[in-house]
Amino acid sequence: MRCLPDAGPTGEEGSKGYYFIDAQTFRESIIVPVNHPAYTAEEALQRLKEGNARFVAGEARFPTVQKEVLAELAKGQQPYATILGCSDSRVPPELVFDAGFGELFVVRVAGNVLGPSILGTLQYAGAHLHTPLFVVLGHEGCGAVKAAIASKFQGATQKSRIEILLENILPALETLDGTQPAEALLHSAVEANVRHTVSQLLATPEAQANLAIGKVKLVGAVYELETGRVRFLD
Ligand SMILES: [Zn+2]
Repeated sequence: MRCLPDAGPTGEEGSKGYYFIDAQTFRESIIVPVNHPAYTAEEALQRLKEGNARFVAGEARFPTVQKEVLAELAKGQQPYATILGCSDSRVPPELVFDAGFGELFVVRVAGNVLGPSILGTLQYAGAHLHTPLFVVLGHEGCGAVKAAIASKFQGATQKSRIEILLENILPALETLDGTQPAEALLHSAVEANVRHTVSQLLATPEAQANLAIGKVKLVGAVYELETGRVRFLD
């Protein structure tokens, strides 16, 4: 393990080859991922939770990246988690989880839905990158989910390709009470949509095989726009 000289003697070695340093030192320095450590699914999930806590607390670690880090990562990637999130500009996974370059393998699509290319990307993450953790990350106030609600309960229509996108969300809304207040309905629909995507992934042969071994974990989560907090679903 090593760290950049300017991390200084105040640097405290973390358990996975990172040096955690005080905020002042950090502004003049950078934390360097070394040794590309392999994480278990539980460790990966814990890292995301800790990163989100730092983000919420205003103590995120990664405002920039140094050339040494880029050079190291150019040799290859070993991200510890794959994130399927929404394209919404307010929910950038790397920032939300305070994760640096090379740490997260990210797919973003409106409404965090599945589709052939997305499934292919996730399959690549599992078969070639071997990320131990997969997270379906929805968010409160999701416009795609809102549009699906309008389509289902108010008969709203959209342009053709948006309609195709919404078809992936509509099954998630089947059991929802469309007469509840709009805000509560959207809140329920966002979570239902995440759970729907998770259940679709769970049904794939790869997921069943990998989850059975116990080395891979698949979790749903919802990001709260106002607080910055990620709520992991049971
Ligand atoms: Zn969204």
